[in-house]
Amino acid sequence: MSAPDDFIPAARPIIGAEERAAVDAVLASGMLAQGAEVAAFESEFADSLVAGRPTVAVNSGTSGLHLGLLAAGIGPGDEVVVPSFTFAATANSVALTGATPVFADIESDTFTLDPAAVASVLTERTAGIMPVHLYGQPADMHGLGELASRHGLALFEDAAQAHGATLDGRPVGSFGLFGVFSLYPTKNMTSGEGGMVSTDGDLHRTLRLLRNQGMERQYHNEIVGFNARMTDLHAAIGRVQLTKVAEWTGLRRRNAARFDAELRGVAIPPVRPGATHVYHQYTIRVTDDRDGFARALRDEYGIGSGVYYPVPNHRLPSFDRTEHLPETERAAADVLSLPVHPSLTDSELDRIVAAVNALAGAGG
Ligand SMILES: *Cc1c(COP(=O)(O)O)cnc(C)c1O
Repeated sequence: MSAPDDFIPAARPIIGAEERAAVDAVLASGMLAQGAEVAAFESEFADSLVAGRPTVAVNSGTSGLHLGLLAAGIGPGDEVVVPSFTFAATANSVALTGATPVFADIESDTFTLDPAAVASVLTERTAGIMPVHLYGQPADMHGLGELASRHGLALFEDAAQAHGATLDGRPVGSFGLFGVFSLYPTKNMTSGEGGMVSTDGDLHRTLRLLRNQGMERQYHNEIVGFNARMTDLHAAIGRVQLTKVAEWTGLRRRNAARFDAELRGVAIPPVRPGATHVYHQYTIRVTDDRDGFARALRDEYGIGSGVYYPVPNHRLPSFDRTEHLPETERAAADVLSLPVHPSLTDSELDRIVAAVNALAGAGG
């Protein structure tokens, strides 16, 4: 039985002295709102994570998705195809534009949107497809991209969980008309709260207007917009984290490789050929009493885990649809995410492997 003080949490945000010093410097400057820190963060983020595509900072990943869709012209009467097996922000952002999210099923192995399932739900109202790079694994951007261009649809990316993931050497967030990264504390890097929108063409200009009341020049409002600005305080945290995220991703991948090699009796997560998975989550399938397995991990072994996501979006009271999505239902019943975060020690990794193997061997 583990003592409570050595409990291994499912996630552990890393905030250090450099982040505190960066925030202090902004506080001391007296300039707190969106300013030079945000501008620097945008260009540094663009250069290190999305091959230099123009990138716009906003106050959350959800704002990024919402404003990105609006900038792309999505609105009432449009349908946007999304996975149901994701965080609610994906479909919420579509619904908030007045468009209709249409839910399609996922692939049986990668947990990401299945191009064949997307093809089966296209209508004359479909305007776009928005896959999610769930858990840090790139969706099938080639299959989805082909489908989108064949039908004249826009392709958007919810890259909230996938900072640094690549497919055939190309970073996620650089395939779609826009790609959105979240900077929420449990994501692979954080700014406290925040979002980054990588954009194609001149979409960044509309996004900058939507972010700031429709103004580029003060009191010359060109369109109706929001206040979705990032503060310089948040950007200062994000800039420090950006210098560390590649090392953290390396550690996540190292931890995942150990699990791949050493876990027995549970289904380990397959990686798409050509993909670099950044393991926002390391998600196994437990086909027999997943919730009992998670409870035993916590109570008997002192190990946290997470179920992302127990209720698919199409069945949430907020959407309440009747789609039949068998792979989505199977994933919601089976998935369990183990701690894979970069601050895990070798002995914590040993404990996780031993606990999972013992429970799996016990028929858990
Ligand atoms: C976290 C997340 C979002 C929303 O990001 P916020 O910064 O929390 O608004 C959107 N989509 C997915 C898949 C996420 O995991």
